[in-house]
Amino acid sequence: MLKINNNFAKLPANYLFVEIANRVKKYQDSHPDAEIIKLGIGDVTRPLPKAVVDAMKRAADEMGNASSFRGYGPEAGYLFLKEAIAKNDFQSRGVDISPDEIFVSDGAKSDTGSIGDILGIDNVVAVCDPVYPVYVDTNVMAGRAGEYIEGKGFSKIVYMPCRKENHFLPELPTQQVDMIYLCFPNNPTGMGIDRENLKKWVDYALDNQSLILYDAAYEAFITDPDMPHSIFEIEGAKKCAIEFRSFSKTAGFTGVRCAYSVIPKELVFDGVSLNKLWDRRQSTKMNGVSYPVQRAAEAVYSEEGKRGVRENIEYYQNNAKIMLDGLAKAGFEVYGGTNSPYVWMKVPDGLTSWEFFDLLLEKANVVGTPGSGFGSCGEGYFRLTSFNTKENTQKAVERIVKTFAK
Ligand SMILES: *Cc1c(COP(=O)(O)O)cnc(C)c1O
Repeated sequence: MLKINNNFAKLPANYLFVEIANRVKKYQDSHPDAEIIKLGIGDVTRPLPKAVVDAMKRAADEMGNASSFRGYGPEAGYLFLKEAIAKNDFQSRGVDISPDEIFVSDGAKSDTGSIGDILGIDNVVAVCDPVYPVYVDTNVMAGRAGEYIEGKGFSKIVYMPCRKENHFLPELPTQQVDMIYLCFPNNPTGMGIDRENLKKWVDYALDNQSLILYDAAYEAFITDPDMPHSIFEIEGAKKCAIEFRSFSKTAGFTGVRCAYSVIPKELVFDGVSLNKLWDRRQSTKMNGVSYPVQRAAEAVYSEEGKRGVRENIEYYQNNAKIMLDGLAKAGFEVYGGTNSPYVWMKVPDGLTSWEFFDLLLEKANVVGTPGSGFGSCGEGYFRLTSFNTKENTQKAVERIVKTFAK
């Protein structure tokens, strides 16, 4: 008889955003006139820059012509895109990454979720708490997480609390951990990490022969010059880290789908090159990203593309500032938001994150994300995103302030 992968039975029943959508729908159904402002899901809203759309159209036309038609491309991405990435995202910052260390994919979610394929099941996994749920859930599916213990989390996962007391930065584990997921600027807390603090992690990983899985999906939002855009700006990182990047939040590609992972050739464990393993895995399980999408991603690095992308990022950064300033002025404790599209706010005393969610939905018609949905250390906090329009962001802040005026 067929057996299913029983690890799936250990997953939490409801995906966080499904639960949020259900509650919003229930409220909207019973209050059809309520004009709800959504600052919940981390999805962009600004249209793609014209240079990007033009490149996609030109590539589509090429596909309609016998002389320029292309079938399967290289599994790890076309050289034109990998060269543009290496030059613009790394070499321009003094980081020597070559095209054959870059693997183009359909998303950083797929990459962070699949990387475990090439890593042993017995590795001890460390994650921040609160955390982007993909890192935990995919390790549950793989059988690396152990059993779920109510109120404690998974028995084999090492949770690294990120609280106000440690400036929402994880502390080095006191035990041996093998796979360390780090995301900076962070989702959900919106906090970035500076070079000095990231160096501690690189040193830990080198000392313990651990692998850092570094998610830099929000790199484009960094404004602080002390914060590295890539972990490979830190000495030694090429021997202990994989970096995940995405065009989703940087260039508005959430619906287009393009990302990449950087796996340096120096990354060798047990005499085995992770670059070679991932190449084997990718070329077996995927046939690459579509040609028009890779041309669109290439155009992100054109002068016009860069300008368009910058304008969109600045639009979101301004929204984050509106939230930070407005909420802080009204006496709320707010974090993040300056190197990130996310504002992490403390919920008013005496309320849980979900109680605040329900109150905000009912009294202010504003939707955010309860911090506890990202892990137990997120309890008492709430995530707001800057991806709505400026007008809605202003309106949402006014409503929150009015509802909870002291
Ligand atoms: C949005 C996001 C990504 C990007 O995922 P894609 O699959 O590339 O759209 C990756 N990591 C984090 C933490 C994110 O929030």
